[in-house]
Amino acid sequence: MPVFMLDVRPAGAPTSESTLRRVEAGVPTLDVRDLGPARGDGVFETIGVVGGHPQALDAHLKRLAHSAALLDLPEPNEEQWRHAITEAAASLPTDRQGGLKIVLTRGIEGSGQPTGWIVASPAEGDFAERETGIRVVTLDRGYTSDVAQRAPWLLPGAKTLSYAVNMAALREARRRGASDVIFVTSDGYVMEAPTSTVILRFGDRIVTPRTDIGILPGTSQLSVFKFAADRGLGTEEALVPTSDLLRADALWLVSSVRLATPITHVDDTEVSVDRELTRAMNEALLAREN
Ligand code: PLP
Repeated sequence: MPVFMLDVRPAGAPTSESTLRRVEAGVPTLDVRDLGPARGDGVFETIGVVGGHPQALDAHLKRLAHSAALLDLPEPNEEQWRHAITEAAASLPTDRQGGLKIVLTRGIEGSGQPTGWIVASPAEGDFAERETGIRVVTLDRGYTSDVAQRAPWLLPGAKTLSYAVNMAALREARRRGASDVIFVTSDGYVMEAPTSTVILRFGDRIVTPRTDIGILPGTSQLSVFKFAADRGLGTEEALVPTSDLLRADALWLVSSVRLATPITHVDDTEVSVDRELTRAMNEALLAREN
């Protein structure tokens, strides 16, 4: 699992040479005073790698910059990250899928110098869930659908390092005999999963929850919408009442490494699975250049 530290440069600074330093996994690398590990004060992206190439790079860089802006972090140097991500992706085996976790933190308190690193991981397993599907439970996220307007300091829509709640929700799902979660607002709308976006099909319409209810804009969801539009399906970002989960003709969780995983059960109720569309969706996601 190659690990790279990034010599973070300000936005706009030239970065013609490599700014990555490869470190041996397991060798202490990070200052314990760094506000990333100390307070979860930073942002990240997880990027899928296929054949040694990063997928949806533009969309990930755009979201990284958006998250950084929401946290008042210095603007990431797009060119530097683009080079670094491409270089780190090329360190992975080309015969299987992989992923990169790229991290930008506020750095050591008072230093004004952000910290950056990239962890490159070959994917484990064969993603059997893309065929077999998964059981999910719905869990109240504790926010109303107007949280982003009412309490923007909660950072809804930013991909911050503070994922302890998301991980706790996944453990709760396992306790309930499921493997994933669909978060819902306390006023009854579908949000997202702890590490993926929810997609629904109603007839020839593909729907995803609106991001202004306080969820992340998904890069995989964007690709799924492009795929759907190319097939002549309608696409829509909507306010999705929780009851729609049992009305839909098919449901998926989508994310950058796992890609499209069909949902077979919601809170123990069996839901219909569209195997043909799932396969076509995953083929399109795997074939993405950007
Ligand atoms: N929502 C959350 C909370 C996530 O953490 C993620 C990905 O990690 C997603 C959605 C899906 O985003 P993407 O498709 O860009 O991987």
